Amino acid sequence: MSVVIGVLALQGDVREHARALESCGARTLSVRRAGELERCDGLVIPGGESTTMWRLLRAFDLLEPLRKKIEAGLPAYGSCAGMIMLADRIVDGAAGQETIGGIDMVVRRNAFGRQVDSSETTVHFDGAPLEAVFIRAPWVESVGAGVRILGRVESGDREGRIVAVRQGRLMATAYHPELTGDHTVHRYFTDLVRQSKDEE
Ligand code: GLN
Repeated sequence: MSVVIGVLALQGDVREHARALESCGARTLSVRRAGELERCDGLVIPGGESTTMWRLLRAFDLLEPLRKKIEAGLPAYGSCAGMIMLADRIVDGAAGQETIGGIDMVVRRNAFGRQVDSSETTVHFDGAPLEAVFIRAPWVESVGAGVRILGRVESGDREGRIVAVRQGRLMATAYHPELTGDHTVHRYFTDLVRQSKDEE
């Protein structure tokens, strides 16, 4: 089935996400305006800087429309800062920092450290091994009962930290799968979008 997946294009790796989604058979659309959300069967929220993204969502009048669409069942996938944006609650946010919300979880911003703290490590995503690139990444402190954990850090001093989750039609990873050639995460999301469209 043909699906259109929007990529929120306020900042971040918009083109890399679009390319990965297209290689999974989706059509893609850059989203900067509320009206464009109506054409999307699903939405990717790239990484970047969540405080900047929050301010841009406010400036572009996108925060409320996005909340409404996600509440109404729009499938969404958030990577890194996008994971922060999909969290119902955050720790170590900037003063007054708002999220879109939707996933019943607490996410700690900059949990892996600041600025220089970036790394590449093997993690499993829903059972499949992949190389994960972390850039000033958050992690998930805790999840509600309805949230499925799709991956954790597997070694080192952060072992056990939750870095991939799914709740219904929403999913998030603390890492950046658009920066590797491995499309496991994008394929999973494209399938989720197809199934969701099928159900309607
Ligand atoms: N630390 C960033 C934030 O708080 C996220 C970093 C990223 O998306 N690569 O939004």
